Amino acid sequence: MSRLVLKFGGTSVANVERIRNVARHVKREVDAGHDVAVVVSAMSGKTNELVEWCREAAPMHDAREYDAVVASGEIVTAGLLAIALQELGVQARSWQGWQVPVLTSDAHGSARIEAVDGAEIVKRFKERQEVAVVAGFQGLHAPTGRVTTLGRGGSDTSAVALAAAIGAERCDIYTDVDGVYTTDPRVVAKARRLDRVSYEEMLEMASLGAKVLQVRSVEVAMAHRVRTYVRSSFDDPADPSPGTLICDEDEIMEKQVVTGIAFSRDEAQITLRGVADKPGVAAAIFMPLAEAGINVDMIIQVVSDDASTTDITFTVPGGDYSRARKIIEDRGASIGYRSLQGANDVVKISAIGIGMRSHAGVAARAFKALAEKGVNIRAITTSEIKFSVLIDATYTELAVRTLHSLYGLDKAA
Ligand code: ADP
Ligand code: ASP
Ligand code: MG
Repeated sequence: MSRLVLKFGGTSVANVERIRNVARHVKREVDAGHDVAVVVSAMSGKTNELVEWCREAAPMHDAREYDAVVASGEIVTAGLLAIALQELGVQARSWQGWQVPVLTSDAHGSARIEAVDGAEIVKRFKERQEVAVVAGFQGLHAPTGRVTTLGRGGSDTSAVALAAAIGAERCDIYTDVDGVYTTDPRVVAKARRLDRVSYEEMLEMASLGAKVLQVRSVEVAMAHRVRTYVRSSFDDPADPSPGTLICDEDEIMEKQVVTGIAFSRDEAQITLRGVADKPGVAAAIFMPLAEAGINVDMIIQVVSDDASTTDITFTVPGGDYSRARKIIEDRGASIGYRSLQGANDVVKISAIGIGMRSHAGVAARAFKALAEKGVNIRAITTSEIKFSVLIDATYTELAVRTLHSLYGLDKAA
């Protein structure tokens, strides 16, 4: 009998009525003869509330206790869904991460899954036809016996890792949109649903801001070749649509140069003017940031008129902005620069497509189109299958729509 993993996100389990609807989706797959493991998120808004309570209790708190608190949201939903399934006559039980167990690293708040032991779940498929309802987002660091969480959006990763562990035929990620779109459909009404998208493109889209899947879940899907669908939990459980398949590049017939546009508002820019143009300066700036665990993304260095100094611009995640500024300012004397300017009202817009490997001038067209709309570009990066531009946040929608149309992604009116 084939096995399936179904994952339901926060909006899909936002209240008891929606949990009943989720139970109907699960029952459909059970009735079709599948062995089913379900992974659930906390009810929508719950995790934010729990995070805020930890912050209120103490702005700097023990990360292990943060995990103990925020893991509770998923525990509630798993129990409620098991009850709703039993109510429909479906044999089901809930599982917390440590009960499975889902073994993780000890990086509390952003732990990595190291192993998932699906043996007991599989045994119960065989012996009792029992649906497993697993609390997503959480695991166990076995050496310390502590509960961990996987980082925001982590239930996607729980689901894909469980699918790999039990050899599931596919992993269905049910959410509040009916698939992966060419860009966030909440921002661009003309966004088009993709039937298929390659693991590599999805990985870039997720890394560059499309939060429909957690980045790590795509990495796990790609490494274990898990056939993953993104689909809507709001479809009629009796007549669902298939959604978007994340699959190998070879399985995609219709290859576009650009497949999608992603954007991330979680960016900040720091510019150092009048930095001495001599060996060792870049190391003096970037080593302390690396040591503090701050991820520097875009870097631009411009030689100024006097030839003896240079200007360096770089970006860091928005949440690390103040910390990064302070690190640089504290080392002002040893680095040596004339002035520091910073901005966190910036956004990074990216275009992604495997077709960029074989087409020249893709990014150049974007620079021209943005210039024509009067959008100033503060920084640029490119790589094999994507390019990104950093712009003022006020132009986010305009820039995303401009690039979306430019590359022919708008759906027919
Ligand atoms: P869940 O709670 O089910 O995990 P998320 O809110 O994490 O759902 O992810 C779904 C959201 O992702 C959608 O509501 C949509 O606004 C957003 N999103 C961003 N980019 C895309 C995209 N390219 N395709 C589809 N959805 C996207
Ligand atoms: N509940 C967690 C979050 O909101 C995990 C998830 O939903 O995937 O981040
Ligand atoms: Mg999510």
